[in-house]
Amino acid sequence: MDSIQQFMDTCNSDLNNNNISFGGASASSSTSPASSTATAATSSRYENQKRRDWNTFGQYLKNHRPPLSLSRCSGAHVLEFLRYLDQFGKTKVHTPICPFYGHPNPPAPCPCPLKQAWGSLDALIGRLRAVFEENGGKPETNPFGARAVRLYLREVRDLQSKARGVSYEKKKRKRPPPPPPQQSPMLPHPGATQ
Ligand SMILES: [Zn+2]
Repeated sequence: MDSIQQFMDTCNSDLNNNNISFGGASASSSTSPASSTATAATSSRYENQKRRDWNTFGQYLKNHRPPLSLSRCSGAHVLEFLRYLDQFGKTKVHTPICPFYGHPNPPAPCPCPLKQAWGSLDALIGRLRAVFEENGGKPETNPFGARAVRLYLREVRDLQSKARGVSYEKKKRKRPPPPPPQQSPMLPHPGATQ
């Protein structure tokens, strides 16, 4: 269980975590050109995260009762996995009866459950989906790309968005600011007569 806990911790703090240790992982023997060091660092961190996610999921399958192999793994099992991860979550999701439902900054504690943030789950599924296909899995049989998983993530997003009073809408292109009101309190320009 410890490893799972660590795993979710790294998920949650991934953006701040620059101290990822390479456990003798020499998978990428190709040295990247010096010009793209930043990109390479970002991508190797992503690769590491993917590998960790994959190991975690593998562990989950191994501990599954009844035993489950990857080839027999369906979208339903992926949902099971996501729900299982909720117990390690750190995101307060208010229930509709909570007075802070829809409150982005509750002024007091409440007994609502902690869950995995939608963003973490969404990113996790994206990584697992990629690894599955990198390891020779077919897109048609990718359990992480199953319709049920997509629907579940959408549901979680809507639910958490409402419960936490935050918007997960994709950032839209910035609209120009609305034109200033016609009747401005500014003094008329001197000499601006008609
Ligand atoms: Zn609450």
